[in-house]
Formats: sequence, structure tokens, C-alpha cells
Amino acid sequence: MSFDYDLFVIGGGSGGVRAARVAAAEGVKVALAEEDRYGGTCVIRGCVPKKLMVFASEYAGMVDDAQAYGWDIKAGAFDWDAFKGKLHAELDRLEGIYRNLLKNSGVESFDLRAKMVNAHTVELSDGTQKTAKHVLLAMGGRPVWPDVPGAELAISSNEIFHLEKLPESMLIVGGGYIASEFAGIMNGLGVKTTQFYRGEQILRGFDNEARTLISEEMVTRGIDVQLNTNAVALAKDGDKIRVTDSNGKESLFDQVMFATGRAPNTDDMGLEEIGVKLGRKGEVVVDDYSQTGVPSVYAVGDVTDRVNLTPVAIREGMAFVETVFKGNPTKVDHELIPTAIFTQPEMGTVGLSEEEAAEQEPVDIYSTSFKPMQQAFAGRAERVLMKLIVSKATRKVLGCHIVAPGAGEMIQLAGIAVKMGATKEDFDRTVAVHPTMSEELVTMKAPVRSQ
Ligand code: NDP
Repeated sequence: MSFDYDLFVIGGGSGGVRAARVAAAEGVKVALAEEDRYGGTCVIRGCVPKKLMVFASEYAGMVDDAQAYGWDIKAGAFDWDAFKGKLHAELDRLEGIYRNLLKNSGVESFDLRAKMVNAHTVELSDGTQKTAKHVLLAMGGRPVWPDVPGAELAISSNEIFHLEKLPESMLIVGGGYIASEFAGIMNGLGVKTTQFYRGEQILRGFDNEARTLISEEMVTRGIDVQLNTNAVALAKDGDKIRVTDSNGKESLFDQVMFATGRAPNTDDMGLEEIGVKLGRKGEVVVDDYSQTGVPSVYAVGDVTDRVNLTPVAIREGMAFVETVFKGNPTKVDHELIPTAIFTQPEMGTVGLSEEEAAEQEPVDIYSTSFKPMQQAFAGRAERVLMKLIVSKATRKVLGCHIVAPGAGEMIQLAGIAVKMGATKEDFDRTVAVHPTMSEELVTMKAPVRSQ
């Protein structure tokens, strides 16, 4: 049977675009459909604009520090319109690059929504049908709103990059990556920021010592972090939003953002109709090779809800190409993925938390928290954390957790050592780079405790 394409990719985000390009480079005939902007969540409404906002928000503190270092400078006002204009121009530029990458690699792209009709046929929203030997589902995810009265008055992380003006006060609901990162961003931009989290401590799942330090530092920097608190109702009150919380208290905010998790984009895609199995959250169920139960259909990235990070989606996309078009069946390695959370202070982490490791085997904990030189000199009381979780049996470093300025950059490198199976003694054999914060990672002599 002959098909229109060897591969039809649905979704032009990190995973879909990479798979399409790499497959096309192998001489495969590829098409890709994207209903929105090319680049997906990461480039258009996630990692990239978020990080630019983190940079923007950090300048306020830098002026204070510069003054402490003797500079005669004063902070002016932050101009949201000027920043927003540049931000969106940059996103347009990046989207153009993504489109060109596809075009130059010979991928035919359709600016349309696509859904599955059968195991080899995709229908575009203009009604045309295309057949393909293989289909790759890479539709990503979207923010989900909790089911509370007045929830429609709030925004999600999709809208935060398009605010008409910066609010004077803002409530962020949630305690995950997105909520905690935006609490820092908004606070840094001068917005009076409150964060509600329903549990005991934000950033559930990460190392307890690390997330406690982040939460404390966020409070020191002026964020009103309210734990064991959730928003139960929202109502319009003049220009403001009146929020009733789970403790019965009412407060007024100019803006409310829900960052209460994300869901895979699998609604109305015709997937279950053709036999593709969906999980409890609506995620596409795949095997280690990203193959669904329908042999011609694969899925990568957030739509599979495995590890929802851009570099993981990219790897899944490339492993799919290896497997299907290069005759080299390749599983994606989801172990020991280093990651950064761009809270203020930032966290870099790889491997097991102290709590996870202790459940698995006896461990020694090496941990130090101190005031770094640069900030201490400027009179800031801010602390950083360097922490290693070490197996008692093998001496292997099972986890590394860093809370510090630049922690994302540091963990990329520490991640190589951990991934290679480095032991604590390998860390110790490495000469310290002085004076830096990260030198503490190789100079911690005795465990602070054993578990
Ligand atoms: P997360 O799943 O990380 O966090 C969701 C948060 O919302 C949790 O604190 C959760 O609480 C809370 N929550 C869920 N439902 C409700 C509810 N009904 N009412 C109140 N609170 C609720 O999702 P995010 O949206 O923050 O991020 C999605 C994913 O995107 C992340 O998991 C990550 O993979 C990725 N991401 C990565 C970034 C990075 O690498 N720096 C940055 C941003 C996103 P509880 O803990 O109690 O369940």
C-alpha cells in the first residue's frame, strides 16, 4: 500500500519538530501539522519566555547589590510594555527559526489542527485527509484549572506573557514548578505576590531540605507563601478579584493565576476510536520505544506524561527516529535526568531526594548551607545549599541538590558525574575551584547524618 508520507507528525513543539527534522534528514518523507504557533509550549509559552522573565525580574535585586558594592546607581521603574514588546519580538523570531528548520529539512507543514481517522490516516481541519506509514503524536499539554466557582476569572501560564499591564497584586495558586517560578518572577517585577499551596510545603517530590530552603528564601524576598491553603472561590469585586481561601479568609487581588498542573492534549483527537489507549490523565500510553498499542502510531513528549521536560521530549523524538527509520531500536533513558527549577533562589537537582534514597537503601547525607560571598558582601542574608546523597554500600552519589544562583548551570555538569556513577570519593578527588559556591560539592568531609 502506498502512503502520502512515511511519517506524519501531529504537533510542532520540541518533540515533534525534532523528530520531523531528524527523520527528514534520513530521506524520510515527512509532514507535520500544528494548529497554533511552531515551537510549542517551551518556545512560545513556557521555558523560553519564562526564563526571559526570570532575567527581567532579577535586575531589581542587582541594583541593590551594585549599590552595596559602591555603585552610585538607582533602580528606575520596570517598563512592562517595553519588555513585553521585546519578548514577543523574540518569540516571533524563534518561531520563524522553527518554521525554517522544518522547511529547510524538507518537511511539509500544515498550519492546521489534525486528528486521527484510522491507524494510517490523519484528517486536517480543512477536511483533507493524509495517509502515512507512521504517525507521531506530539501534541503536548495544556494548563488545567481547578473546578472552583469563579475559576474563569483567573489566568494560567498561557496568558501571563500577554498581560495588558502588570498587576499591583497577584495570587498564584499551586506549589509546582510553574507556580513557584512565577511567584519569584512577579515578586521580582514589583508585584505584591501571594502564593497558595494546598500541602505542607511547595515543590512536593523534591528534596525536603532543598524545598524548605527555597520556600524560606521566597518569604524573605517578600512573597507571601501561604501553605495548607487553597483557593475555594473567586468572585469579581470592582476591578479586583475576591478570593475565598480554604481557611475561610477573603482577600482581594488584581490578578489570579492557577498553576495547578497540566493535562495532555488528547481531547477530540480520535485516538481511542482507533484503538490508542489513554491513561487516567488522558495521556497516550506507550511502551519503552514510544509505540502505542496501534503499531503505526507513536507518541513523544508531554502528551505521554512521562517526564514532562523539553530535553526529554527531544530525546524521545530522536529515539523514535532511530527505532523506526534507522533500524536501531532505542529506548529512552529516563533515569537520572538533571533539571533546574527557576525559582528565586534557583534549584538544580539530579537523582534521588534524601527521602527517596532513604527508602531505598542506607545513605550518608553530605549537606552544607551557607551565605555565599557575593551576596553576603552586599549585606544579603540569603543562604545557598549544596547537598549530596551517598549510598553507604557503593559510595555512589545517588542525588545532588543545589539551591543557589546559577544552580541550573551547575547541575548540568554535576549531572554528568552522577550519570557516570561517580562515588563520593570521586567528587573528593576533584580539586576545588576556589572561590566558588560549588567547590563545597568536593570539600564536604563528614556526613551530617546517615539514614
Ligand atoms: P506540577 O504538577 O508540577 O504542579 C501542580 C501543582 O498544583 C502542585 O503543587 C499541585 O499540588 C497543585 N494542584 C493540583 N491540583 C490542584 C487543585 N485542584 N487545587 C490546588 N492545587 C492543585 O505542575 P506545573 O503546572 O507547575 O508544571 C507542569 C510540568 O511542567 C512540571 O511537572 C514540569 O515537568 C514542567 N515544567 C518544568 C519546568 C522546568 O523544568 N524548570 C518549568 C515549568 C514546568 P500537589 O503537590 O498537592 O499535588
